[in-house]
Amino acid sequence: MAKKEKTEAELLKEKLFYERKNALEDIDKKSEKDIDEYASGYKNFINSAKTEREAVKYAIEYASNNGFKEFQYGKKYNAGDKIYYNNRGKAIYLAVIGSENLENGINIAAAHVDSPRIDLKQCPLYEDSGMAFFKTHYYGGIKKYQWTTIPLALHGKVMLKDGSSLDICIGEKDDDPVFCITDLLPHLGADQMSKTLKKAISGENLNILIGSKPYPGEKTKDSIKLNIMNMLNKSYGIVESDFLSSELCLVPAEKARDLGFDRSMICAYGHDDRVCAYPILTAAVEASKNIPKHTLVTILADKEEIGSEGTTGMKTMAFDDMIKEICENAKANYKKAVSNSKCLSADVNACFDPNYAEVYEAKNSAYLNCGVCLTKFTGAGGKSSTNDASAEYVSEIRKIFDDAGVIWQTGELGKVDQGGGGTVAMYIAKRNIDTVDVGVPVLSMHAPYEVISKADLYSAYLAFSAFFKN
Ligand code: MN
Ligand code: MN
Repeated sequence: MAKKEKTEAELLKEKLFYERKNALEDIDKKSEKDIDEYASGYKNFINSAKTEREAVKYAIEYASNNGFKEFQYGKKYNAGDKIYYNNRGKAIYLAVIGSENLENGINIAAAHVDSPRIDLKQCPLYEDSGMAFFKTHYYGGIKKYQWTTIPLALHGKVMLKDGSSLDICIGEKDDDPVFCITDLLPHLGADQMSKTLKKAISGENLNILIGSKPYPGEKTKDSIKLNIMNMLNKSYGIVESDFLSSELCLVPAEKARDLGFDRSMICAYGHDDRVCAYPILTAAVEASKNIPKHTLVTILADKEEIGSEGTTGMKTMAFDDMIKEICENAKANYKKAVSNSKCLSADVNACFDPNYAEVYEAKNSAYLNCGVCLTKFTGAGGKSSTNDASAEYVSEIRKIFDDAGVIWQTGELGKVDQGGGGTVAMYIAKRNIDTVDVGVPVLSMHAPYEVISKADLYSAYLAFSAFFKN
């Protein structure tokens, strides 16, 4: 049957109206294959990088395999040099020196590699009623009820009394044990069920069940705790006081899985924000294969989920110091370099969820499969605490994406006055660098199992690649 010709009004609409494009409509076989291949690399990454430390370790290995060398103070870097600054194993800044003078500006992409999780307290281990538990303090914005009765894995670092360090990862291998937070049976849940979701599970109730066997032989108080401490001591040389100098956390033990009959989506822990970290990292390494015009910098930051504080959060001067060093040693004016720089703050946005349509504003939301989302402003209330990118800068980025054929959309985080949130964008903008948020839409953000679309993931990669080529 012949295709019906478009009417004049239809053609005019096409010309004048803004419509989101669905990346999967009329998709060709090659693009489908590219999307799937990229997604499978991403799943490997996200399975092996569940904490910021693991993500940084992955980035160092990946970058080193592609010719990146560790940054050195006082060294002059030349066009084509590839370097990384390892900030305490928890954040990393990678740079590819471009052919142009640094004063013409640096192209920066910044994502964060920390995700909401359950941290151990410093005196975590105790025994109660025939069971041993860890006390915890949650990290980042979580809905606490979502973290009970799911398998959890223990990740992190313990510094022993003698100063030696120990990396811990238990619960990821198929034959590893896992841990969990218990919840009340519905039969006895009448009081709990009448509370609000916020209050039904308290922070102090997020205790991790870790064992129930007493120390064999003589009867003694705290024998289950003793048995566990003895096991930890035998396996790792840990004594209880070593928890004081540890950073241990519980994260969901599940692996990333394809979601849906059509496998168009991925559910995994920590898409926020590794679903942007992976595209900027892979785009930077790809771009480093030729000498870029502008110097490129990729930031994988820590502590975004708790306000970007500390030596490894985006408020740190470590990042500025590295850029200053590169500029000074190349005899370029640092202030001029940053004033001409531009940044994509690569962080996720909320994906429109028809099950909760009431909190979204349909005309200004990000939709699944409609590509990477450019978010002009985040914040809360009357645009409080946001970097509101300028029209001029959005126009520049829009042109880069359009010229490269990137499928992208715009979206705001929910209805006005519904809530809000922030990213690292405002901390980078503060440094006199034009910045705008660009990232992948996520369903069930901050839940133990978040959902993204493979097409959106790939479109993020294409967007950051185009930005780095510019
Ligand atoms: Mn984020
Ligand atoms: Mn977040």
